[in-house]
Order: sequence, then C-alpha cells, then structure tokens
Amino acid sequence: MSESQPDLFDFDNTFVRDLAGLFDPWQARQASAPRLLVLNERLAASLGVDPADLRTPEGVDVLVGNVVAAGAEPVAQAYAGHQFGGFSPRLGDGRALLLGEVVGADGERHDLHLKGSGRTRFARGGDGLAAVGPMLREHLMSEAMHALGVASTRGLAVVATGDDVVRETMLPGAVFVRVASSHLRVGTFQFAAAQEDPELVRRLSDYAIDRHHPSARDAPNPYLGLLDAVMDVQASLIAQWMLLGFIHGVMNTDNVTISGESIDYGPCAFMDAHDPSTVFSSIDQGGRYAYGNQPQIGQWNLARLAEPLLPLIDADLDAAVKAATALLRTYPERYQQFFDAGLQAKLGLVGVPADGSLFEDLFALLALQGADHTMFFRSLSAVVRGDETSVRSLVTDESALEEWLVRWAAARADEGRSEVDVAEGMDTVNPVYVPRNHLVEHALAAGSAGEMEPFDTLMRVLAEPFNERLGLERFAAPAPADFASGYQTFCGT
Ligand code: AMP
Ligand code: MG
Repeated sequence: MSESQPDLFDFDNTFVRDLAGLFDPWQARQASAPRLLVLNERLAASLGVDPADLRTPEGVDVLVGNVVAAGAEPVAQAYAGHQFGGFSPRLGDGRALLLGEVVGADGERHDLHLKGSGRTRFARGGDGLAAVGPMLREHLMSEAMHALGVASTRGLAVVATGDDVVRETMLPGAVFVRVASSHLRVGTFQFAAAQEDPELVRRLSDYAIDRHHPSARDAPNPYLGLLDAVMDVQASLIAQWMLLGFIHGVMNTDNVTISGESIDYGPCAFMDAHDPSTVFSSIDQGGRYAYGNQPQIGQWNLARLAEPLLPLIDADLDAAVKAATALLRTYPERYQQFFDAGLQAKLGLVGVPADGSLFEDLFALLALQGADHTMFFRSLSAVVRGDETSVRSLVTDESALEEWLVRWAAARADEGRSEVDVAEGMDTVNPVYVPRNHLVEHALAAGSAGEMEPFDTLMRVLAEPFNERLGLERFAAPAPADFASGYQTFCGT
C-alpha cells in the first residue's frame, strides 16, 4: 500500500503524535471526477513540492482527498466553541481533515488541511460537503489577506469534486486545500477542558507554547505567558482588520486561532462605505460581529481562552482568576497601541501626534460621511502630493473634511519629513485593491459556472494590492449603488 502512495510532501505530524484525544483518524470521501480549479504554485514550491507534480492526476487525487499521500495521517480535529455567545461542547471538523504537517522553506511548520472532504464523526446534521463558490471565496480571501500583509491561513488549491452539493439549488462541489501555521483554536482548549483527562489541557498548552509562542516558556508563569502571547497576536490581527475595513463575520471561539492567523473566510467581507454597524452575514441577526464590535469581541474570546487555562495558571482558583483577569484587562490598551501604530503609518506619521484626538476624529468623520474606506485612505497620499480632488469627492461635507485635513497637515509639519517620503510610505500600507464584494461575487459566479478567467484575473489584481496599475480602475472602485445595498454573505455553505 505505502509503495503506491504518492510521495509529494515531507510530512512530520506532531499534532497526531502528541495530542491523542483531540482528533479522530478519518478518510476523505471519494470525489468522482476531480478537476483542479486553482493551484497556488508559489505556495506549493515553498512547501517543498513541485507544482507540476500537484497538477498530475495523482497530485490532484491527493489534493482532493481521494488518495492519502505518503506520510499523511488524515484526522478530523476535535474542538468546541462559543457560537454567537452560546457554547457548543462538540463542534470539530465536520467537513474537514488535517492531512499532516510540512516544514516549509521558511523553516516554519504548516498544517495541510482539506475542507469539503466529506462527513466526519463531527458532522452533526451537515453533509460534510462544500460548493465551488464558497471554496473559491475562501481561497481568494486568504490570498488577498496575505498580500495585504495580514497574518492569515493560505490557499493552496481548490479542486472541483465532480459531485453535486445540495443547497438552495444543486451546486458543483469542491474541496479547498488550506495551509495554516496550525489549526489550534480557542475552541480546541475549550474542548480539551471539557474532557475527563485533566492532563489534556496541559499537553495542549505545552504543545501550543512550543509550536507558536516559545517565549512563554520563559515567562514567570508559562500558561499566563501563553494567554499573554495569544492576546498580543489577536489584538494585532483585529487592529489590522479594523484598519483595512475588514469584517470577519463569524468570530466564534472555534474561529479564533492560537497562532494569530485569520481563519475561516465564510461570511467575511470588506466594507465599501465606512460604517461601524456594518454586518454582511445573513446569520448575524443581532449584529454581534459587526465591524465596530470586533475589538471588544476579541477580548471576550480571549477571556474564553483564559478559562481552560485557569487550573494551569494556579492551583488556587481564586489566585488564577485574579491573575488572568488582570492580564485580560490590559487588552484594550494593547489593542489600541496596535491600532494607533497602524493608523500612524496609514497617515504618514512616524510619531504620536500632539493632536490627541486626530485619529478618533478621523474615524468619526469617516462614519458620518460614509466615505469609501479603502479609497479614502488611499486618496490621502495624493493630498500629501498636493491634490485634494479625490479625497473631496469621497465626502458629502467638505468643510468637516477640510477642518480635519488642516489638523493632519499640522501633525505632518511637526514631523518635518519630505512629502515624497511620506506619500510613498503611505502607498505601501493603504491598498488600492481589496476584494470588494461585487468583484468577488462576479468572479465566484463565473467560477461556479466553469469559467475561471474572472477569478484568475481578480487573483492577479489582489496579489499586488498596493501597486496601482493602469487599466485596473474598475477593481479600485466601489460597488454600483444597486449592488451594495442589502448585500449578504452566507456561512457554512
Ligand atoms: P464554521 O461556521 O464554518 O466555522 O463551521 C462551524 C462548524 O460547523 C464546524 O464544526 C464545521 O465543521 C461545521 N460545518 C459547517 N458546515 C458543515 C457541513 N456542510 N457539514 C458538516 N459540518 C459542517
Ligand atoms: Mg470554523
């Protein structure tokens, strides 16, 4: 058997080796007629595999889960999670499998994971399947986020299965091949804590420290150190989302990684007009995960991580709660530091402006004027270069904008840097191209109908989000008015 297994990746599977109790060995469902829709050749090469080998029928069979590659040990991972505030003790990979781990050219360990690969023991009522459209969406969003400089899981491939998936209509099925620095989630800790074995959370925590946050090992209390480190990477991540106008859409604790990578691009979307109450997800009726709520939800989710760690932090529960609570209270300030540092760069400032409400007032202005988030920030480098036409066209009340522009100019004058340097720096952090909803929908609709050209084109545009190119104007523009209103995204589809 092992001789016929294609030898593609150099697997080294620590999760399966070290964390018995947190997974279930499983086989992917057989796809009847797999067809490779997208392959991320650069990512493949960085994982030490020749992209040409992945394009062969044997390679595609491995990517869709029909064949287990040499060294792979497919498992469905167990996890729990708070979904929209309510606790589910048993979620897990209902339609996904971890194939194994590969150490890439970067020296980092990466999970290779399939999504849409059939029902597992964790499937509950679900069919275990995924449709082409949502899997293309996940691939595109992952790669767009990565190109924008956001820590993110990656897309290696999307393979059409040749089988239908039943949703509101019959849709073509697909498997998405995800690469992640791991799939450890807050929900993994919640699951471990709910098992009979008290040592399981300790094994998981030690594993997470070794794999993601080794410096926590040297902290006076390593488990508090782990919480501290995850707080840092999550605060930094959410600050980046906020600066980009990104709405994750389903910040359940099973979608919060220990590594600090964004994961699970289901109902996520970028907003056009800036509005803190923006929600795109059809299932987020209460607006729990609205754009403006994301930083606070981040803190709530981190408190859920603290709970399973308490017995490790201190044998005395009161002392553990006290220590964890004190640490969690530092979150708002730490989040604000990441956010402010990012906003400084977006505004071409290198220091903290003397005008203490400059940042806050900008976000209030954006919300009040409903300015296009991405275009507004990008247009500011033109202001530095002496052209206000574009930024003025994005607001309804030019006088409110003028007042803020004067204060911002004063902050820049205080720093005395050359206009060229300031403007060029701003253009490296304020993107021209983001995956706008109308563009994404168009590309996915075509892709689902078997026409990949619009998707491939959009992927190429989004691969260089900061590099403005002639002829790509339509990719930088907001949605036509009839599209934007009432746009909804769907979860778990
Ligand atoms: P998500 O909202 O995508 O993070 O998924 C939440 C949970 O639902 C996870 O445990 C998934 O594995 C599970 N799930 C979502 N869709 C399906 C499906 N079609 N079949 C089985 N499980 C699913
Ligand atoms: Mg999920």
